[in-house]
Amino acid sequence: MSATTVIRNAIIYDGSGGAPFPADVLIDGEFIAEIGTIGGGADIELDGTDLAVAPGFIDVHTHDDFAALVRPDMSFKSRGGVTTCIAGNCGFGAAPYEAAATMARAFHPHDDLPEYKGYGGYFDRLEASPPGVNIAVLAGHGTIRLGAMRLEARPPDAREMSSMKASLSEGLDAGVLGLSTGLIYEPGRYAATEEIIELASVMQGAGGIYATHLRDEGAGLLGAIGEALRIGEQAGVAVQISHHKVMGRTNWGLVTESLELIESARQRGQVVHADQYPYTAGSTVLSAVVQNEMFGDDDTGEINATDVVIAACDGNTEWEGVSIGALAELWNLVPSAAAASVLEQEPGTTVVIHSMDEADVQTVLRHRSTMIGSDGIPTLEGRPHPRLYNTFARVLGHYSRDLGVLPMAEAIRRMTRYSADTFGLVGRGRIEAGFHADLVVFDPATVIDLGTFDDPNHYPGGIHRVFVNGVEVVRDDTYTGARPGRALRRVD
Ligand SMILES: [Zn+2]
Repeated sequence: MSATTVIRNAIIYDGSGGAPFPADVLIDGEFIAEIGTIGGGADIELDGTDLAVAPGFIDVHTHDDFAALVRPDMSFKSRGGVTTCIAGNCGFGAAPYEAAATMARAFHPHDDLPEYKGYGGYFDRLEASPPGVNIAVLAGHGTIRLGAMRLEARPPDAREMSSMKASLSEGLDAGVLGLSTGLIYEPGRYAATEEIIELASVMQGAGGIYATHLRDEGAGLLGAIGEALRIGEQAGVAVQISHHKVMGRTNWGLVTESLELIESARQRGQVVHADQYPYTAGSTVLSAVVQNEMFGDDDTGEINATDVVIAACDGNTEWEGVSIGALAELWNLVPSAAAASVLEQEPGTTVVIHSMDEADVQTVLRHRSTMIGSDGIPTLEGRPHPRLYNTFARVLGHYSRDLGVLPMAEAIRRMTRYSADTFGLVGRGRIEAGFHADLVVFDPATVIDLGTFDDPNHYPGGIHRVFVNGVEVVRDDTYTGARPGRALRRVD
């Protein structure tokens, strides 16, 4: 017989979005056994009075492919209530290995990245050294393209295309959930729409999802959404709009129209979803900001250089927290030259970009197509965007409880059941008998994000216990050291 745990007298948010209700939850081994009034004793008795129990949060937008291997405790996720990460977003995948390790270097300047072959080898690695949370992955178009044709800025020839298809097929056979693109990054930005349609068509009938960091999240947002919808339609696959937002003051408000595009596609019968992190600042590699000419030298760019703040800069940590605009003034350079100088010394520099409108963030969060994903960059050095640790607590505490942007039960649905159903995570995302015991015990009155941009390295408050596959990974707000996570492979 497996060990049993009962959480008594808690408020249950079951992931459905329906009203919470008081009950006990019985965990038997790795599964949820029963919800209701549980008679008799269990091996472990926990008091849930005044606490909420929800399905473990599913972070649908992560870059934790290598973090799961080199920082396997993954406590920077579980301490925020996350029990499953979907990695491989924005075109950055885990295979083919050489390309993946090259692209991941900016996020892992000091880590030895373990070797493996293909997604089969990646999943074997995860299983041989399990992480603290469950890991599912998307194949990354950028990585696949880099593996097939290096940084060539042209369409693939027939041989290169068949090599790309073979990489994706290997991933699908091994269990990736779909394909991601990052159409502002090298080399994803060199891909024409037709290339992505042809590659994504490999997933037709296989159930894979197409997740995309759009080609333009500024003035060209609507056209970029149109491209994503066309790819989904012509390839015959579901679409996930990654970190739905609009950047640049002159573009604020455009999300009303991008949401309308999503709504009307849905009404035509297309399967389209989105995810979001709950902040008015984004974060990425500085090289992408420069390559996409996001700030001009005469203030005509969409992003003001004083709003681009260095997050992590390995060789020059004194620049962390300083804006490109401030460095430009200090060095008497135009912003693009200052950024180029930073990149010359440290090509992997990451930045936080303050470029969104609070009203837009709330408009997207309110919409039924939006699920929650952190987009956290797992460098754990410098001043990472606080979304890495705090995304889910901020939606629950700040946006739901304090601002009333959406009801807590609905916020939890967008972190659990909606996400599991969309990505095909079978047996996860609900509090229901027979489901995996991925659970979060938190205090709805106190749950809150604590990291700020100036002082980001803090875990959220109010998240007391976290179970992954029935094993406690967080107890009394502390990581237990357990690593019960699984590699979650797509099930046909
Ligand atoms: Zn992205």
